[in-house]
Amino acid sequence: MISLANPHELSPKTIKDIQQQLVFILHAVACISKDKQNAVCAQAGQPPRHPPCDLPNCQAFRQLTIHMRQCPLRQPCAVPYCDTSKAIYKHWRQCRNTECLVCTRIRCFVQ
Ligand SMILES: [Zn+2]
Ligand SMILES: [Zn+2]
Ligand SMILES: [Zn+2]
Repeated sequence: MISLANPHELSPKTIKDIQQQLVFILHAVACISKDKQNAVCAQAGQPPRHPPCDLPNCQAFRQLTIHMRQCPLRQPCAVPYCDTSKAIYKHWRQCRNTECLVCTRIRCFVQ
């Protein structure tokens, strides 16, 4: 289990892996909400507002983010990447450190 309490204690490679996983999680979260907006457009008989997603891993990460919302936080989970993704996503949402080795680059990238 990755601990994100002290990101500066992680190796550069671990940080890169974490960032990659975080980018996919954030993509999947955004992608799910775009799909919802598209569904609303379709119901109103309008063309979709967002183009379809062509990211190969998107489906897998969508399933993971949907699972993460229902997954109990405390116990270890058997679903691959669930525990690390929960730790990463939780850190991301709580992190206010403008110099955080994990989040800062992603913030520039997302916003
Ligand atoms: Zn997507
Ligand atoms: Zn889980
Ligand atoms: Zn951070």
